[in-house]
Amino acid sequence: MWGLQEGVVLYTSSEGNNSEKSASEGLLLTHEITNSVHEGKLVGYQCLDCGIKAIEVQAYCTKCGSSKLRIARLESRGRVLAYTIQDVSPKEFRNDAPYAWSVIELDGGVRISGWIASIKSPHDLPIGQRVRLIKSKKAEIVFEKILE
Ligand SMILES: [Zn+2]
Repeated sequence: MWGLQEGVVLYTSSEGNNSEKSASEGLLLTHEITNSVHEGKLVGYQCLDCGIKAIEVQAYCTKCGSSKLRIARLESRGRVLAYTIQDVSPKEFRNDAPYAWSVIELDGGVRISGWIASIKSPHDLPIGQRVRLIKSKKAEIVFEKILE
């Protein structure tokens, strides 16, 4: 279960800004993002003023500067925009190397980075490849290729 419900308003003060409160709620959102990834879901925030969604934890909307942000579910599918292939991996990804460290554009436009296991060459992962988030206990966001 999420400690914060989807739709909860994170920052409601439009001016004055209590930075101490924002910082602690920002940490909570980081925790929520990690927990949701473990369950195969992505959460981030959505700006109540302009509607943009993003996954980075921050106190203000990067598009319009509003401080009215709420927790929002993000799409778990998207496409590969760019990546590098890595042969050397941390311990927890030892069985997945070589892997691709990728920039993914989720359906809906949010861009995030994530891992895609067992990518040996550019043949294995064309730019634009459809991918989806997979449940993982690893510390990183992990995607897999899908056929659509
Ligand atoms: Zn905004």
